[in-house]
Amino acid sequence: MRVSRFFMPILRDPPKEAEIVSHRLMLRAGMIRQSSSGIYSWLPLGLMVLKNIEQIVREEQNRAGAVELLMPTIQSADLWRDSGRYDDYGAEMLRITDRHDRDMLYGPTNEELITVLFRDGARSYRDVPRTLYHIQWKFRDEIRPRFGVMRGREFLMKDAYSFDLTASEGKKSYNRMFVAYLRTYERLGLKAIPMRADTGPIGGDLSHEFIILADTGESEVFCHKDLLELEAPGNNHGPEDDLEPVIAPWLDKYAATEEMHDKAQFERDVPADKQISARGIEVGHIFFFGSKYTDPMKCSVQGPDGALTPLQCGSYGIGVSRLVAAIVEASHDEGGIIWPESVAPFKIGLINLKAGDDETDKVCESLYEQLSNAGQTVLYDDTNERAGAKFKTMDLIGLPWQIIAGPRGLKQGKVELKNRATGEISELGLDDVVAHFVGART
Ligand code: ATP
Ligand code: MG
Repeated sequence: MRVSRFFMPILRDPPKEAEIVSHRLMLRAGMIRQSSSGIYSWLPLGLMVLKNIEQIVREEQNRAGAVELLMPTIQSADLWRDSGRYDDYGAEMLRITDRHDRDMLYGPTNEELITVLFRDGARSYRDVPRTLYHIQWKFRDEIRPRFGVMRGREFLMKDAYSFDLTASEGKKSYNRMFVAYLRTYERLGLKAIPMRADTGPIGGDLSHEFIILADTGESEVFCHKDLLELEAPGNNHGPEDDLEPVIAPWLDKYAATEEMHDKAQFERDVPADKQISARGIEVGHIFFFGSKYTDPMKCSVQGPDGALTPLQCGSYGIGVSRLVAAIVEASHDEGGIIWPESVAPFKIGLINLKAGDDETDKVCESLYEQLSNAGQTVLYDDTNERAGAKFKTMDLIGLPWQIIAGPRGLKQGKVELKNRATGEISELGLDDVVAHFVGART
């Protein structure tokens, strides 16, 4: 992509309405714009990151055996009357009346709809276990939308739903998602800690929130410091494996959100020098709630003995759009964003220091072509902005690598390669800079 053809409205000055760094940087980098309170347009650079995160979430869901589908954003109120949640959900639900005076709503979550779909599609115990998921926009009329896409009213969520015959099988599905979540956050470059959590309006008694520690987080959390050292499990387990032992290192150590915090237990079980009491951002939440929805909505299958059994269920949410902001909170410096390679909108920013100079243009065009042809994603700044402004923009938008080409270096046949995260700059010949990306994987 050429900057001269791209749409990336950079703001030089910090926007006044933004209270936290991720919101400020996402506005300044031209990733998002608010269209009304808590409702955002995703501009090209923001959308690329959102899609990259979505894809990692999808791959790890698929790897865990979950199956993707797509449910609509608008649902019928009757569905929610059947589960008994229509009145309970309260003012966060955006209620809509259509032209025939039918009560509709913009879905804040999908337990009801998926339960009906599964009920109508599954007949016998052979149709379970199954975990289904979709990645779809949700609407919650938050009382205080704030911090940009961190707490929006319209936001993108991955929500998965598991269906099992027995509670013990259901817990296995829960554990499988637990592992998938650990792997997902690790690939996103985040340290997310699973913490015992309250279940709120979703219901049930087993629940974990996945939290990344950040001063700007809205939750107060308590945990054992060693949890920060754990690495996500590998993906070498079969569909029937019991993953309880795999997640035991996380379950064995104290970690709880404010609502579930037990001060006495925390002080008893965690040595003083290992006690973390901090703020955190909730990037995912998983629940096991048994037959809370399958009972009222009559979602049963015939067991091996012929008897109808209501299915045992869990639901599993990841805030995909919130993650964009969470990654920025976790990875930035005074110059701007520092994207982990796994989600970066482009891997390389190519800076032409003297657009209009024949030799520099020729070299940049050739690098742009070679790298692009080799499958690298490159944002080429071919504009005639001042060098200083180009550097500032590249640092702000946080691409992992910058290639800087100007007449002075090119006299010796050299360009500069800068690593955004470390700030390290090296001088390389033209072939070597291409080889750096194309030859060996970095
Ligand atoms: P919170 O406690 O932050 O309000 P929640 O408990 O209501 O979240 P869940 O129903 O568990 O949220 O939704 C699953 C995930 O969706 C959350 O872990 C979070 O990452 C994301 N999410 C929830 N509400 C919002 C929102 N208003 N804006 C952006 N992301 C959200
Ligand atoms: Mg929650």
